[in-house]
Amino acid sequence: MAIVESVSKIPLQDPPEEEFSSADLTWTKFGNADHHDEACSNVLCPTQFHIEGGTKLPKGQSRDTLKKYKGDEHIEYKKYQCSFGPENYGEGGEILPSRRCRTNTRNRAARPQSMRGCTCHFVVKRLYARPSLALIVYNERRHVNKSGFICHGPLDRDAIGPRATNIPYISNEIQQQTISMIHLGIPEENILEKHIEGIERYCGSNVKFNSLASQHVHKLSMIIKRSTHELDLDDEVSIRMWVERNRKSVFFHQDTSESDPFVLGIQTEWQLQQMVRFGHHSVVAADSSFGVKRLKYPLFTLLVFDSRQHALPVAWIITRSFAKPDVSKWLKALIDRARSVEPGWKVGGFFIDDAAADIDLLRDIFGCPVLFSLWRMRRSWLRNIVRKCNNIEIEREMFKRLGTIVYNIWGGTSTSVALEQFMLDFVDQTDFMEYFRVSWVPKIEMWLSTRRNFPLASQEASGALEAYHVKLKAKLFDDSHLGALQRVDWLVHKLTTELHSSYWLDRFADESDSFQNVKEGYIASTSWHRAFQIPDSAVTMDGKDRLFAKVASQKDSSVTRIVWNPGSEFSFCDCSWSLQGNLCKHVIKVNTICENLQGYQPSMSFRSFEEVLMDLWRKPVDDSFELDVSLAWTHQKGRTYNGKRSLILATPVNRNTKSVVMHKKNRKRKRLSRLR
Ligand SMILES: [Zn+2]
Ligand SMILES: [Zn+2]
Repeated sequence: MAIVESVSKIPLQDPPEEEFSSADLTWTKFGNADHHDEACSNVLCPTQFHIEGGTKLPKGQSRDTLKKYKGDEHIEYKKYQCSFGPENYGEGGEILPSRRCRTNTRNRAARPQSMRGCTCHFVVKRLYARPSLALIVYNERRHVNKSGFICHGPLDRDAIGPRATNIPYISNEIQQQTISMIHLGIPEENILEKHIEGIERYCGSNVKFNSLASQHVHKLSMIIKRSTHELDLDDEVSIRMWVERNRKSVFFHQDTSESDPFVLGIQTEWQLQQMVRFGHHSVVAADSSFGVKRLKYPLFTLLVFDSRQHALPVAWIITRSFAKPDVSKWLKALIDRARSVEPGWKVGGFFIDDAAADIDLLRDIFGCPVLFSLWRMRRSWLRNIVRKCNNIEIEREMFKRLGTIVYNIWGGTSTSVALEQFMLDFVDQTDFMEYFRVSWVPKIEMWLSTRRNFPLASQEASGALEAYHVKLKAKLFDDSHLGALQRVDWLVHKLTTELHSSYWLDRFADESDSFQNVKEGYIASTSWHRAFQIPDSAVTMDGKDRLFAKVASQKDSSVTRIVWNPGSEFSFCDCSWSLQGNLCKHVIKVNTICENLQGYQPSMSFRSFEEVLMDLWRKPVDDSFELDVSLAWTHQKGRTYNGKRSLILATPVNRNTKSVVMHKKNRKRKRLSRLR
């Protein structure tokens, strides 16, 4: 919002009703770049204001002598203070038990018995320049106390008012639902309908409630629409203010200083619950260094796999530093937080997507095996091949060759020889080779050795992680705010409003079996789930050379997709989704079929599992190894999907695991002996 520097430039408004609320007016930021009063309308809640102080024109001073006054000098000035403040008469502590509205007393200016330290106040001025008008200035327009917590009103999640018997009960869930829908830009009438449905579940149907609900939803939507990421012009100040106001959603914050880099760890209470629930004895995955080139600081996301095995972001860390001391500080803070909710909370396995990750540190802190996920490398290679080469046959060949190099880990051919040959054979693809030389040659040995030494995550898990990555990209890089990418406050705002709301609503729709279209969209949001919509009969394998497979489109029978190099992570499809670098449903479907066919090369996650298993036979069993195997097993393929139960990503590490693992191991042993 632009800042207006002169009072005369603020538009004059004339609300139609005698009584009006701040939401009825359009507010303007007033002041200058160094100091300005927030005057965007964001005040809503049934409170009253009392006169806290004021001045009047001294007696005997005539209007004529006033002409020399200018700008915003005033004749009269009244400060109205929200009646829940400014003093704090609460029992102490930073967060007070809250109320929805003020006590109803006869005295209009009476204070509530328990003050909440609310700093919300506004000033009404009569200016010399235009004495017949009132200028209203909000200095603090939100109902927050000095620590920045919302201390009363409908945005206060803990609010239970003294008039709770007279107003409909709005549970946290309904409130969150309404807020999420507003953030997602759903039309207000749909939001209201769902809001009323929610209230009726608790309070029954009531015409009066409906009109209250309509006001509530409308006002909430005004607040949200007018809210801005920019709490201050200076991004650093803005972020500090955000942190102060959102303490409940911050698990770690380290400001930039001479000795320390900037680190901000965000986790809402809902995300904490999800992490505790789905991460316990299960898998936590990392989506590292998102937006390295475009954002001011890259974003690191921790994800869990929810009940449908979709990747769910449970913590966001914004920082440029991946130095051990910094990572260990925020990781410990995060785990302590989970354990404060659930003592004994423990992660079963940790997926990394970058070979440069500090694996020892992760093992130390999480105390669990580490698995490696291929999707990032695959995606990067495929995207660059498609972008930088322009002959589909060459693209296909190159991708296949890169796949062979990765596969050859198990074949014994020297990687450096294979790489040299690759670069020689495709030397005329100069753009790609330039990218490959700069981005991959220096680190490929490290990546391949990580691949050799750690069990691989399944294609299913990779697909889920990729779906998160794609969604993040769509939400963050599809914004009209040019230049906002370099502001941390903007990133924080996007994550905690739109992205958070979208995941919240997806989960809510699924668990409460409501919002059918949201639920369907959510289920179909990974290629893995979309692949199961394709019947086996739609897939034809090229029988002779096994070079490709054909997948008939379900929507349009005249369309057929061709999947090259079937049965490998380095399959390549000609659909547009695949050509954007994604793991498409056709590839997943074809690979699923290949896994059950004789004569196809087993996929890498399967091979990696075999490797671990072979080692296990040679070495004495120790506990950590046992864990690696149980996870590798459950993360590789060969399962069938029955459409009802969700696929299991990881076996809980409990006492029964051992027997399950042993049982599976025996089955595996049989199968392996058959293969030989
Ligand atoms: Zn207030
Ligand atoms: Zn495809």
